[in-house]
Amino acid sequence: MPDAATHLPFYYGSISRKEAEEYLKLAGMMDGLFLLRQCLRNLGGYILSVVYDVRFHHYPIERQLNGTYAIVGAKPHCGPAEVCEYYSKDPDGLCCNLRKPCNRPSGVEIKLGIFDSLRENMIRDYVRQTWKLGGDALEQAIINQAPQVEKLIATTAHERMPWFHGDILRSEAERRLYTGAQPDGKFLLRQRGNSNSYSLAIVYGKTAYHYLIDHDKSGKYAIPEGTKFDTLWQLVEYLKMKSDGVIYCLKESCPNPNLPMGAGAPVPPSLPKNRLGGGIDGYTPEPVFNGSSAKSDSPTGCRKPGVLPMDTSVYESPYSDPDELKDRKLFLPRSSLMIDEVELGSGNFGSVKKGVYKMKKKQIDVAIKVLKSENEKTVKDEMMKEAKIMHQLDNPYIVRMIGVCQAECLMLVMEMAAGGPLNKFLPAKRDQMPTSNVVELMHQVAMGMKYLEEKKFVHRDLAARNVLLVNQHYAKISDFGLSKALGADNSYYLARTAGKWPLKWYAPECINFHKFSSKGDVWSYGVTMWEAFSYGGKPYKKMKGPEVAAFIEQNKRLDCPANCPDEMYKLMQDCWIYKVENRPDFVDVESRIRTFYYSIAVKPEEAKDLSKGAKRTNPNPI
Ligand code: ADP
Ligand code: MG
Repeated sequence: MPDAATHLPFYYGSISRKEAEEYLKLAGMMDGLFLLRQCLRNLGGYILSVVYDVRFHHYPIERQLNGTYAIVGAKPHCGPAEVCEYYSKDPDGLCCNLRKPCNRPSGVEIKLGIFDSLRENMIRDYVRQTWKLGGDALEQAIINQAPQVEKLIATTAHERMPWFHGDILRSEAERRLYTGAQPDGKFLLRQRGNSNSYSLAIVYGKTAYHYLIDHDKSGKYAIPEGTKFDTLWQLVEYLKMKSDGVIYCLKESCPNPNLPMGAGAPVPPSLPKNRLGGGIDGYTPEPVFNGSSAKSDSPTGCRKPGVLPMDTSVYESPYSDPDELKDRKLFLPRSSLMIDEVELGSGNFGSVKKGVYKMKKKQIDVAIKVLKSENEKTVKDEMMKEAKIMHQLDNPYIVRMIGVCQAECLMLVMEMAAGGPLNKFLPAKRDQMPTSNVVELMHQVAMGMKYLEEKKFVHRDLAARNVLLVNQHYAKISDFGLSKALGADNSYYLARTAGKWPLKWYAPECINFHKFSSKGDVWSYGVTMWEAFSYGGKPYKKMKGPEVAAFIEQNKRLDCPANCPDEMYKLMQDCWIYKVENRPDFVDVESRIRTFYYSIAVKPEEAKDLSKGAKRTNPNPI
């Protein structure tokens, strides 16, 4: 999850309260002077530091379950910037309204937190190793799954820290602390047996002191009655700055002799493969279509990853194995293909049947498009064109073609997307699909379209009916029957004659001038978004295609679907910008929907108890 405050000039990142106060002092201490910093206890949270009456006031801003930000108990806002803007107009319970931002002095950069600098490498390593991905599939998985994986990684990041010694006895902890120099503040953390409780050991005056760290019901870590933290590494970082009841501030870490490389190096995760499922909160993989995964939060507040695209066999190309790639040809032998009588769907050309295709090492489920009027040469040509386009595409969010088979009839063999078309799936699963699930799927469609745009292909029939689902959390773009390759020098395809076109999905320049570019696909993407957020609603109700074209010319657009987030309706409206040159491209669209998806995908904990516990002066006798 990218930090939502990095663009703010008065945001300092991971600085301590003391440092914040220093900056405010330097800037003059006038009433209403304020700055924003990262909250060191709460993942994704901030602290607003304000001066009033020559005193400092610090307000924690939390990320709420629904992705909004709020000072505890106060009005929620969509981002940290909006929170500050709101309190600049109205103090609404603060010491005063925010009057003057205390901007970072020139040369002062945002201070990265310890996890900020580790995060990317850890996510990359985790995704690569857990799903054995490489190349583009790895990059796409990182982009799409970062929010889910990041939270998981954050809660296990301590395992990669040099001060974490795992499950060792108290006596062994002391032996390690007493080995070598013993400066005050030398410390380590150990796990207590297989439990979820830990112990902090710190040297002070050549003596080791031990503090129990509890993992409470709400998933927080704390020394009993002390400040609560989302993760162990946050607790350690905090105690480095402030002793908070511990006998001395944490200083030098006593390095774990068994940790390779040491010093917080992003070593590959040591988690077993099932850790994503079983390690943190007892999650076990769920049936693909039960839909409960996206809604439920574990007791730790960590969103259960549920079904991820990478868990399916169709995430990676069937030809990513070099042995399989060797024999890759457009035409497939009939003997390797088993065709089921089950019909998955039908279209203008004929029907789509279920089947299995035998490869060298594995067999894969396939969908087979079968021509009905074999004799018509034009139909056959059309299908071969579609096959040739699909043959050039290889992306996790686009239905891959396996090949063509010429036998009892001409057949197009594709990887299987068993969930069927989005426009049919959504109304049936409405109750089990929160908005975030719809955003997730539409983000995947945007990634697939960004790939097409980059490869210079225009789809020309993007619509919810042509987005197929592998499962509830994995969408793929299909139906390349109208698609064209633009070639290196063209930014659009000019259709000589109008055909049987899906006018309700077409941009004005497509209808009026027969000009098809990726920006035309962006328009269709907007309509597809509308269909998705209205859970399979029919765009423009009973209007006919030409009526819709006139409606658009009058500068009218589809209304916002019920319960559709503002950000998403705004994006649709931008997809429907009349002038091609002002319309966003898929690079923009993907980035915008990704930012929104990240902002709602990770649900932080219900952190209600922010009160500081009673201060302890004595270590716990453990
Ligand atoms: P048309 O050009 O006639 O719209 P499509 O390619 O959209 O043809 O396929 C028609 C229907 O066949 C789809 O709506 C879907 O139900 C089914 N279908 C097509 N491809 C697949 C696939 N790869 N996996 C599962 N079902 C598919
Ligand atoms: Mg179709």
